[in-house]
Amino acid sequence: MLKAEIITSGTELLLGEITDSNTPYLADQLAGLGINLYYSSTVGDNYQRYSGVLKQAWDRSDLIITTGGLGPTQGDITRDVIAGLLGEELTVDPDLKKELIEFFSRRGIEMPENNLRQATVIPSALALRNYSGTAPGWWVEKDGRIIVTLPGPPAELQSMWTNQVLPRLQAKSDAIIVSRTLKTWGLSEAKVDEMVAPFLSTANPTLAMYAGPEGIRLRITAKADTEEAAGALITEREKDIRGILDNYIWGVDDETLEGIIGQLLCSRNMTLAVAESITGGLLACALSGVPESRNFFRGGIIMPANAAEVGAESAARMANQARREFAADVGIAIDGYAGDAEDNARDAAYIAVDAASNQGTIKANYPARLPQMTRRIISHALIYLRDFIRS
Ligand code: ATP
Ligand code: MG
Repeated sequence: MLKAEIITSGTELLLGEITDSNTPYLADQLAGLGINLYYSSTVGDNYQRYSGVLKQAWDRSDLIITTGGLGPTQGDITRDVIAGLLGEELTVDPDLKKELIEFFSRRGIEMPENNLRQATVIPSALALRNYSGTAPGWWVEKDGRIIVTLPGPPAELQSMWTNQVLPRLQAKSDAIIVSRTLKTWGLSEAKVDEMVAPFLSTANPTLAMYAGPEGIRLRITAKADTEEAAGALITEREKDIRGILDNYIWGVDDETLEGIIGQLLCSRNMTLAVAESITGGLLACALSGVPESRNFFRGGIIMPANAAEVGAESAARMANQARREFAADVGIAIDGYAGDAEDNARDAAYIAVDAASNQGTIKANYPARLPQMTRRIISHALIYLRDFIRS
């Protein structure tokens, strides 16, 4: 079992100018491969300090993944640091050089001399092609360890990972890992934990819990010699969990609440319009992002909350207004009021649904941290809408 470590580099990460999104991406990918990630660290573009962090990783990990520092400038030092650690010499690879020159000539520019740095490799490194940028990555194998060197820009990193690193890592591992995520709404993390407790300590399949704005997710992961055998383990465990949580599970894997609403409305040939105050258009945004949205989503109204009259009645009026304004079958509204920390008695969201012949409203309480709560309120509204349409 490989012990992995991630090193992100870039002084701008340490200055707080950009937020590291490469580590969460890679961490999730490694978890999916069943590779244990034990450490992750961030270091600036400083040769001494970067070398120190890399040496430490080399001494304690089998798989080291670096991100960033592969550009053409003097500040991009990842290649130099690895060459230094391994005591190997950087030389220009003629094929990489040719590709770089072609990359620039396709854009009608002459290659700056500095970019030649990006065509350098060490003897232990295999270059990984970069189809969306100029910096090739490296796959280095030496002394029983692997160093994978990826570019900083997330899009470049992710395509290189998917196309060139993932298949190599899969080939290294002798087991197939399969996972499935069950998504629940309506229970607290502690309650779910209590209900599925017997399955949280088994080794294969494993069960992990995560809380998010769309509810508590349960990830079942199984390991076996073949995909079918791993799938069978998952299916069996899924049956156990559904036996306990069935009414709370609203989706699996990549399914989203807005996608499920879209399917439900399309299957019944129904259309939807929204009106929202405190969520500021994010409900409309979520619904309009669903691929088949043009078949069911009629439009939305965004309005400021009127603090004097926020409540169930105002939400019901908004839902009715949205439905009539856009000539939709169903209108849904979110109204609410976000007070300050001392005023949390008034922190509530009101969700109303209006289908001409039938209306409904609920009140949901939320702490006064509106930005973080917005997606929760939207999830709550979508679950309410689902139940309303089905009933
Ligand atoms: P380039 O050839 O573009 O210079 P690079 O491999 O040298 O790529 P960096 O110079 O370290 O990478 O970073 C380039 C840009 O990529 C950063 O300005 C930032 O926008 C993005 N980036 C780098 N590291 C991260 C990270 N860990 N998370 C999110 N974005 C990142
Ligand atoms: Mg750079």
